[in-house]
Amino acid sequence: MKPSLAKLQKFFRLEAERNYDNRAVFGGLQRSLQGWDAEARADGLGEDLVNGVTAKLRDYEKLTPKERGRALIEIWLRIERETGIRANGAKPKWKTMMKKPAKASSPKRTAKTPSSPSPRTNKNERGLFLRPSASSQLRKASFPGPAALDAPTTVLNGVGPVNAERLEKLGIFTLRDMLYHFPRRYDDYSKQVRIRDLRYGMDVTVIGEIKRISKRPGKGRRVMTEAIVQDETGGLRVNWFNQPWMMRNLKTGDSIVLSGKVDQYLGRLTMNNPEWELLEEEQLHPSSPQSGSLGTGTNRIVPVYPLTADLGQRWLRGLMKRVVSYWALRIPDPLPHSVIESANLESLSDALLQAHFPDSQEQIDSARQRLAFDELFLLQLAVLLQKRAWQGQTAQRFDAPQDWLHAQITRLPYQLTNAQHRVLADLLKDLNSGRPMNRLLQGDVGSGKTVVAALCIAAVTRAGAQAALMAPTSILAEQHYTSLQGLMVGQGNLRPGELRLILGSTPESEKQEIRAGLRDGRIKVVVGTHTLIEDPILFSQLELVAIDEQHRFGVGQRAALRAKGTNPHLLVMTATPIPRSLSLTVYGDLDLSIIDEMPPGRQKVATHLLLPRERERAYKLIRREVEAGRQAFIIYPLIEENETSEAKAAVDEQKRLKKEVFPELKVVLLHGRLSAEEKDKAMESFRDGKSQVMVSTTVIEVGVDIPNATVMLIEGANRFGLAQLHQLRGRVGRGAEKSYCILFPDHEDAAENERLQALLETNDGFILAEKDLEQRGPGQFLGRQQSGFLDFRLASLSDARLIDKARRQAELLLATDPALSKPEHRALSAAVESYLTSGIGDLS
Ligand code: ADP
Ligand code: MG
Repeated sequence: MKPSLAKLQKFFRLEAERNYDNRAVFGGLQRSLQGWDAEARADGLGEDLVNGVTAKLRDYEKLTPKERGRALIEIWLRIERETGIRANGAKPKWKTMMKKPAKASSPKRTAKTPSSPSPRTNKNERGLFLRPSASSQLRKASFPGPAALDAPTTVLNGVGPVNAERLEKLGIFTLRDMLYHFPRRYDDYSKQVRIRDLRYGMDVTVIGEIKRISKRPGKGRRVMTEAIVQDETGGLRVNWFNQPWMMRNLKTGDSIVLSGKVDQYLGRLTMNNPEWELLEEEQLHPSSPQSGSLGTGTNRIVPVYPLTADLGQRWLRGLMKRVVSYWALRIPDPLPHSVIESANLESLSDALLQAHFPDSQEQIDSARQRLAFDELFLLQLAVLLQKRAWQGQTAQRFDAPQDWLHAQITRLPYQLTNAQHRVLADLLKDLNSGRPMNRLLQGDVGSGKTVVAALCIAAVTRAGAQAALMAPTSILAEQHYTSLQGLMVGQGNLRPGELRLILGSTPESEKQEIRAGLRDGRIKVVVGTHTLIEDPILFSQLELVAIDEQHRFGVGQRAALRAKGTNPHLLVMTATPIPRSLSLTVYGDLDLSIIDEMPPGRQKVATHLLLPRERERAYKLIRREVEAGRQAFIIYPLIEENETSEAKAAVDEQKRLKKEVFPELKVVLLHGRLSAEEKDKAMESFRDGKSQVMVSTTVIEVGVDIPNATVMLIEGANRFGLAQLHQLRGRVGRGAEKSYCILFPDHEDAAENERLQALLETNDGFILAEKDLEQRGPGQFLGRQQSGFLDFRLASLSDARLIDKARRQAELLLATDPALSKPEHRALSAAVESYLTSGIGDLS
């Protein structure tokens, strides 16, 4: 692909991964594509096309995320059309994704409940630029078996090209994929209850005939579909809210299976929004699976599979039955006996059979346990092997002689805490080990990670080598640049000019000069944003890569920066405490050091939850603090999934505050839509104490260090995630003065918000992170880029017990066979291999 198109594609993909928030690249899409037109022309693209693309992107930032998605898709389609290129060579998949996401809103009597789309359907909705590694890995992260399992679905009777394409939409390409396409739920006919015997609150399956069905206006502008379902013992009212298409799905006389909870309305029993399916003959006349027929087992627990439009539940179930009952018994179990025994697992064959066509509820649970274990076990093996591979490499040694180190440390304006000393020792040991450091440095906000990183950088530059420090925002990068300047330049470590800062906004001429300096080694340390990896920078001797607030970066970005050196040492830092389940999985290949102690004199930030009507109290506090020479942050939330309106809220509020609330103060404004210079100006004015109040959106969330700020007022606090709130709170309480965090929920009810209560209860970032993970799940917690390869089918990151078990078993196994080279581990080793090459490979 032409470089200009590859670049475009990369941006588009990143943008899609971030749900089109226009932050995939620093400064937004438009900015980063400045100069793209020239490149494109140089690549020989037609004038029309180039102009078309730039015109379409011109107003990109003004579009809503939805419109942005559409615009990018249109652009790409046009490019494909006019240049004849194929996206990434993966035509079929791209094509599938380009079609409108499979929606079940107008199914032709398929039994899918649109209100609960399958996870697969959601995945497709991520759209056109789904990360290929994530999707291919979805298909690959299962055990290999006989080659016949890799046969395409078209080998099955009744599956031609049309159905094969429909199956592909579900991620099913081969027979093996079918085995691993698990039901999204089960209809349990053993839970079938006659209508007469229903009781309020029961979780049941009801079978009956539709006597009447009608649509009527519900509350507000909603539509309610109401049906009366009858069996031989009585009638039951069933309601579907806001699913007008139900009228098209069902008609009087249909036999239907409902499952859900029994509810009550005005003293009468009802079911609201139950899952439903049209009744199929076979469900009433089950026969045993041994007979080889399409029966569903004597216990009548029937799998309900994720579908896309055009695929019928019944059809797919029949197909699954054929494939599963034949192949589940023939797929070899790659887990060694030792593991199966000591982890107390059932066989893969049983697990697959029972996961699809279970005999009982208990069987479902144990089958899914076994299969979830497989996923976690593979991940653990992959991660541990990765770690070993890393440890097998050699890296340059850097030592830090005692007297040199002592001089460095005593020159600091403060004493290092014990925790900082301990962690520094870990890091320096890594640097001098001859193997590349691969370490995650964790420490709550304000625990003083930067200085530790700086000392490592000094140890590396002392020997004449180079180091790079990457931060997620330009504000943070600048701040690090300033700190490093204070800590290293003119302190005998670096000469002026040996430390440089590179941002997206850095003028091209300066960038060129920095590139030249890094290439010939004159520049020793470079601090920057994503620009560090996006820019074609080459280093003469990059030996240490440090990444701050690394949860803001994708795993690929880590790898990209690292690739600029040869086995450089890698230090990643994060202030978002990482729950154990994640440190064993996502970060399982990294060594871990924790700064678990705050510098002395820090006071706990007093956190208060006020009601909107008590706002004047908060303003009073701000005035009082400002009079005492301190400063305050006022944060506004993301009001819609739209940066423009977010910025607008902050802009409007800043005007109001300036005019009506703090006429005597200088109030500056910071938000993501400002130009880099405007941001700098605002930050500088606040840092230098020229303004007293900073009104901001969450751009200041990570890392900003203004010790003189003592008030953090958060508006719409209930809209923020827990980790984010904790980060925001960490912006104050960084000096010796008592600091305050004031939370305003949107409305009084929101004061009950669980997250806000949690924040009041504890200052401990670890406890908050565990809660956050629990509440939001790993996808949200980690952000899109990092959670892709954790798209487990069955495993869950909240299952710490199973993760531990898998870890333990993986360690045990590798202790007996470090490279998985024994013949009995061949299948396992192949599975890990495919896992590694399909996404997780760039983990470290
Ligand atoms: P974080 O771990 O959040 O990145 P920083 O490295 O930004 O924290 O440090 C927060 C503040 O604490 C900075 O102003 C830094 O100068 C200061 N600091 C770091 N270590 C100590 C220490 N041992 N004693 C006192 N202040 C310290
Ligand atoms: Mg920091």
